[in-house]
Amino acid sequence: MKITVAIDGPAAAGKGTIGKAVAERFGMAHLDTGLLYRAVGRRVMAGEDAVAAARALVSGDLARGDLRAAEVAQAASRAAVIPEVRAALVDFQHAFARREGGAVLDGRDIGTVICPGAEVKLFVTASDQVRAERRFLELAAKDPGVTRDKVLADVRARDARDSERATAPLKPAADAVILDTSGMSIEAAVEAACNLVSSVLDL
Ligand code: C5P
Repeated sequence: MKITVAIDGPAAAGKGTIGKAVAERFGMAHLDTGLLYRAVGRRVMAGEDAVAAARALVSGDLARGDLRAAEVAQAASRAAVIPEVRAALVDFQHAFARREGGAVLDGRDIGTVICPGAEVKLFVTASDQVRAERRFLELAAKDPGVTRDKVLADVRARDARDSERATAPLKPAADAVILDTSGMSIEAAVEAACNLVSSVLDL
């Protein structure tokens, strides 16, 4: 079975949690493609050129413990605007998507650019206030200095950069199912995503 589940959406919409849960439920592999861009952003913060960093990425880069920081997310979204950075990451994502046993990829352009033929396409979203609150609670557990206003501003800045870029902008694929999780618990969102996968795959 070579099934691809594409999950896209804006920052902190719950794509990662949903992607991981769907992969576990259906025994598929899961790739959080944001980590690729975060790993590039992290290397850029250390002084590397973004394109060279994307071309030199190794699996150890994805295992770093500091990729979730807010400044790494911003560096990632700045690097993600560069077409050559995106191009350098395509082959790895394609190979992952066609794995035997099926794969779930979450990101911004999976259903539109990386895997336009994906069997299941989901666009997970929520209001920016709800997304910022979720991300705030996640970050505040590690960094007591973080504020709600700062997290909301970060989320909005990334949304704007990701949606307005010329190459592979954040947008739902024409055939994606939209899942607005603003008023949903994470359990309900996971259930809705799993039901969609089941119905498309006729399981
Ligand atoms: O999903 P996450 O918040 O970890 O992604 C970090 C940044 O990486 C995003 O803001 C976006 O700019 C970039 N990204 C992308 N395409 C993807 C995944 C992430 O441009 N498929």
